[in-house]
Amino acid sequence: MVAVGGLVLWGLLLVAGLLRHRRVLLNLWREPVLRVPVLAFESDDWSPQPQSQAGALRALSEVLARHRDVDGNPGLMTLGLVSTSPQLEPTGAVQWIDWSDPQVASTRSAVLEGVEAGIFALQLHGAAHCWEPAFEAWAAGQASAEGLSPLNEVLPDALQSRWWDPYADPPAPVGPRSAEAAAHAEALGFQSHWGAVPAVAVPPTFLWSHAVEQGWRRGGVRWVVTPGARFAGRDRSGRMQPAESGLCNGVRSVTGLRYLVRDSYYEPWKGHAPEVALAALARQTRLGRPTFLEIHRCNFIPDQGCADDALTGTEAVLRLALEQRPSLRFMSPQELGERLEHRRSDDLFERGLVRVRMWLRRCGVAPALSRWLKATGLWPLVKLA
Ligand SMILES: [Zn+2]
Repeated sequence: MVAVGGLVLWGLLLVAGLLRHRRVLLNLWREPVLRVPVLAFESDDWSPQPQSQAGALRALSEVLARHRDVDGNPGLMTLGLVSTSPQLEPTGAVQWIDWSDPQVASTRSAVLEGVEAGIFALQLHGAAHCWEPAFEAWAAGQASAEGLSPLNEVLPDALQSRWWDPYADPPAPVGPRSAEAAAHAEALGFQSHWGAVPAVAVPPTFLWSHAVEQGWRRGGVRWVVTPGARFAGRDRSGRMQPAESGLCNGVRSVTGLRYLVRDSYYEPWKGHAPEVALAALARQTRLGRPTFLEIHRCNFIPDQGCADDALTGTEAVLRLALEQRPSLRFMSPQELGERLEHRRSDDLFERGLVRVRMWLRRCGVAPALSRWLKATGLWPLVKLA
């Protein structure tokens, strides 16, 4: 009788967990399993200013070009591009400098040379790294424009979220109509600056809405980079609030866009050694996932003071990754997304039982799922996988 009761309880726990976690379980099951290690550096925040970026981009190109994968492709870095930099006039007025400004021609050439060489892949980060009216309200409230940096990295946190207005009363996401129109316009702006539609968008601070996706989609965007969650707002203390979580590579949004996950970090300015990047590559590869390493612009521009360490570290990551994993491929999220969408590359994706093993491994690293698997006694299956 006791045994039957225990069995019933176990069954209830199992079914309750399946129902509760069904969406994530399904996402993990559908997520493609890569047969080979895939690596790309993902560098956001590149905007027209400062002009010192031209040298930084050329130095980066040289490092990336020195290392080739098994197919002969050079190291790859995506540049998350911001279309404008704010310039504060002595009067307090804000002027927005964009990529067509002659004074940033050298940086623009450095970007295009890298694209031509197959080293840089361009992604849309936004028309600005803030909601422009909010930035202008913030600038108007500063005592003096003198000393205000044009670097988006140093703006207050909440102001860096493009699709969030901290100056609304109360602070709120940018309204759907304005957001959709602005997202559409920034995708078209990207195309006019760079001659190609932005296939991949990276929302600043990962706060965005479905209205933003609608606008991007009309402007040619097909994939959105996410850390595995979509943040829709901030609480009273400015902390980000998730609207969706458990997003995996290839998950399709209600708007038709698909997500690609970037949840590995290599930020030398935070003291990350190359081993941090290599550990991420090992972890992701064990899960059949690509390794998209977040490494912001601030690591490389001389204004921030760690450019030499960041270049040396990037070079070490490339060299050691190739030594440790001879089958490594350097690939952009766009290329991976295209292969994934058409499933046209059998050499890249696993089928059959390997997928079951990877699914179990992935369940094991999702905190809520691992707790449930331990509670139901199914954890040994994950250990076996
Ligand atoms: Zn950013």
